[in-house]
Amino acid sequence: MFVSYVVPVKDEEGSLEELYSRIKKISEELNLSFEIIFVDDGSIDNSFFILRNIAEKDKRVRVIRFRRNFGKASALSAGFEKAKGEVVITLDADLQDDPSEVPKFLKLIEEGYDIISGWRKERKDPISKRLPSKIFGKLSSWLTGVHIHDFNCGFKAYRKEVVENIEVYGELYRYIPALAYAKGFKVGEVVVTHHPRVYGKSKYGWKRIVKGFLDLFTVVFITRFLKRPMHFFGGTGLIFLMLGFLINLSLTIYKFTTGALIGNRPLLLLGILLMILGVQFLSIGLLGELINNVTHGRKREYLILEEIGFE
Ligand code: UDP
Ligand code: MG
Repeated sequence: MFVSYVVPVKDEEGSLEELYSRIKKISEELNLSFEIIFVDDGSIDNSFFILRNIAEKDKRVRVIRFRRNFGKASALSAGFEKAKGEVVITLDADLQDDPSEVPKFLKLIEEGYDIISGWRKERKDPISKRLPSKIFGKLSSWLTGVHIHDFNCGFKAYRKEVVENIEVYGELYRYIPALAYAKGFKVGEVVVTHHPRVYGKSKYGWKRIVKGFLDLFTVVFITRFLKRPMHFFGGTGLIFLMLGFLINLSLTIYKFTTGALIGNRPLLLLGILLMILGVQFLSIGLLGELINNVTHGRKREYLILEEIGFE
């Protein structure tokens, strides 16, 4: 089996040598042919020079260096694009994930899973990070239908097809299992030991919580409604429009039957507001469909598992 390791690196000079030798050790023990793709995501320490040194000595090591810091999602995408392995394994560069656990991942992939996500059951991070992450995990698993515990673990294994068919951009790397699941890939989970960070410091703080929340919306939307935005916006729009119409209709009937003045009724404003909102939602839905129509064909929605009887 040929395995590609993809490692995003941002200022991790302290741990790279050690990480490389651990990956090498376990892969040689398992008799794997492998490559390690380090993606230097705009490090400003010595990371790149250390990586270059390693790559000079070992031809199985490749290095991609970004011009500036583009973020972990871009680093992973760049690695995925170059990866040649039948299986791609991603892990963080900070030694919080231990390469010696690779066999567990490979075993599950061999059993037929398409993507295996690490679960840091006992996470060695401060509580300020663990708690929001936990709440998030629950919410994500509920909204996306992917029942795994730990979405944001950097340690994952993918069958090549998965990385070829999902698009990771922005900060969506956190939801790769959800994106893969939506395309019909079989998602599994394995418990991994998590180690505290020894060198360098974490690149993410509390701001990630807000962003992660917004990203969850994005993921739910693009996995469910990418090809039918009208169902999402139109549904809401119709409800608003109908409600507003009924309110205003009853006010009108009221005015003509009793002769009362309705100009000072707050309900009138509500009715008008709902009708305007409804029309806006419907129009946004139409715009979405229009965009889909123009770009139709450029992005296939379906993936084929097998074909029989074709040339
Ligand atoms: N990373 C990256 N680009 C960034 C931020 C982080 O490539 O802009 C890498 C980082 O070097 C590490 C991994 O992504 O290998 C996870 O980052 P970190 O350990 O800081 O996240 P945490 O474990 O604290 O969630
Ligand atoms: Mg880390």
